Amino acid sequence: MIHEAQWYKTLQDETVQCTLCPHNCVLKEGKTGICRVRVNKGGKLITEVYGFVSSMHSDPIEKKPLYHFYPGSNILSLGSFGCNLRCFFCQNCTISQTGADPDLPRTNYTPEQIVQLALKQPQNIGLAFTYNEPVVWFEYMVDIARLAKKSGLKTVMVTNGFINREPLKVLFECIDAFSVDLKSYTEDFYAKATSSKLGPVLDTLKQISQAGKHLEIVNLLIPGLNDEDESFTAMARWIAAELGKETVLHISRYFPHYKLTTEATSPDSVSRARLLAEKELTYVYSGNIYTESNDTHCLNCNAILITRHMFDIRTNGLDSDGRCISCGKYFLKKI
Ligand code: SF4
Ligand code: SF4
Repeated sequence: MIHEAQWYKTLQDETVQCTLCPHNCVLKEGKTGICRVRVNKGGKLITEVYGFVSSMHSDPIEKKPLYHFYPGSNILSLGSFGCNLRCFFCQNCTISQTGADPDLPRTNYTPEQIVQLALKQPQNIGLAFTYNEPVVWFEYMVDIARLAKKSGLKTVMVTNGFINREPLKVLFECIDAFSVDLKSYTEDFYAKATSSKLGPVLDTLKQISQAGKHLEIVNLLIPGLNDEDESFTAMARWIAAELGKETVLHISRYFPHYKLTTEATSPDSVSRARLLAEKELTYVYSGNIYTESNDTHCLNCNAILITRHMFDIRTNGLDSDGRCISCGKYFLKKI
């Protein structure tokens, strides 16, 4: 569906500059941005994926992963095509490292149709924008999210956080919770493994936190690339200092995918990183490993609030207001 993009400037000779993400691509007539889905057509920036859904599923919210936002609920999750990063370990490369290719399977939905589908899903809390990078289908996501909020649904964005400040502010009006990848704490990793930069992602995390939005962070631990103790500890310290000690960090086990053939992260390596992070942060969980406890305990009385066995989630330690049933300490922020 042809749809004019937001967030661009017109330069000379029908050249445009996209200002949605920190790449700030300058595009001559007919050229496409790094994300492959925003193109200059006749001096206008067009989003080529408005209305295109590559996949849609009802997922446990823990799969996003969000552990402290409506635990145990389901959320209708959808993705489109494209990404502004080029991670050579991308787990979703078939939809992220492609443009709006007409040969790829997709379904067209209007924002109204998506919201109606979400409202009809049994035990569904809302909509999650995920699978490929939602930043690059900003206009479609925002139109859906605004309608969803009017219909009383919760909205979640799963993102790499590589977005400029002004468009991010718009998302605060219509997105309730963010799951953000912090892939490493070095500029070198971001440059070599993702073709992007760390600095803007750190800015995004601070902006989300300052806006008071629900935020959880995901780090995919890759052997030999981002699992070095010193930088991992520095990352956990930065999170504690800038975003707060109670910011949730998920450390996820990597498996070989796309262009990276390095062996999968060992469970021991994830445990080691988790111990380092737990020196700085209160809530650290292990992802893609089911041998470690990912239960949540009350900070006040240590009672178990939430038990997690894969995607079997029990919130028996919480009352309906999100307080510990043993001591009454408030745990969940209901949005
Ligand atoms: S969203 Fe796409 S076109 Fe726009 S600046 Fe980022 S990579 Fe470039
Ligand atoms: S940011 Fe996510 S979707 Fe994009 S290339 Fe990296 S891993 Fe894939």
